Amino acid sequence: MLDTSTAAAWLKDYAETIHENREVLTDLDRQIGDSDHGSNMDRGMAAVAALDPAEFPDAAALLKKAGMTLVSTVGGASGPLYGTFFLRFAGSIGEDGELTAKALGSAFAAGLEGVRARGKAADGEKTMIDALAPAVAALREAAAQDASVADALASAVSAAEQGRDGTVDMLATKGRASYLGERSRGVADPGATSVTLLLQSAARTLS
Ligand code: ADP
Ligand code: MG
Repeated sequence: MLDTSTAAAWLKDYAETIHENREVLTDLDRQIGDSDHGSNMDRGMAAVAALDPAEFPDAAALLKKAGMTLVSTVGGASGPLYGTFFLRFAGSIGEDGELTAKALGSAFAAGLEGVRARGKAADGEKTMIDALAPAVAALREAAAQDASVADALASAVSAAEQGRDGTVDMLATKGRASYLGERSRGVADPGATSVTLLLQSAARTLS
């Protein structure tokens, strides 16, 4: 089951991971943005980690509140994007929240669709989508082959890491990095990097 305490463990692990990688994310955003992705995500996830899981009846309610907290505490593009991701993820798992590769694939896919709807970025525009979309595809493929949750998440992590690395050579055409034009090449996208950390946290805590 994806119960409230399992979801809380994922959020807590992600908050800690973001905190540890705050400078890495800030440094990437310094090169192709405005140096705030690390502080934005750290502020948002610290607020999420401060939520009391005991106040929520199920994982979906906690993840929904996490999404709303990110929208309200994170300035910048990433707040509404991550907020929408968690809101849609929560909507997909519903109250029964069975933790299978198939359910996770559907929930991550719903989150991805939320990010696409909100940010209007296509694949290959050097955004978080370029790590999230391959991760979702890997999850769904693993689910179709009846893989375990652990195997499905391991394959999603590899896909996200490859996707993140693939953003290095991309030209940014959405978000702040697009202002740099050709100079946006040569650096991994900050959001694709933080999304990869989200998948790595999921692999550590959800399986
Ligand atoms: P801001 O760009 O407002 O300073 P952040 O620095 O916190 O916000 O987040 C930047 C990240 O947000 C980018 O690295 C990118 O991955 C993601 N991003 C920006 N715009 C979009 C978009 N339209 N669709 C998807 N992701 C986006
Ligand atoms: Mg920024």
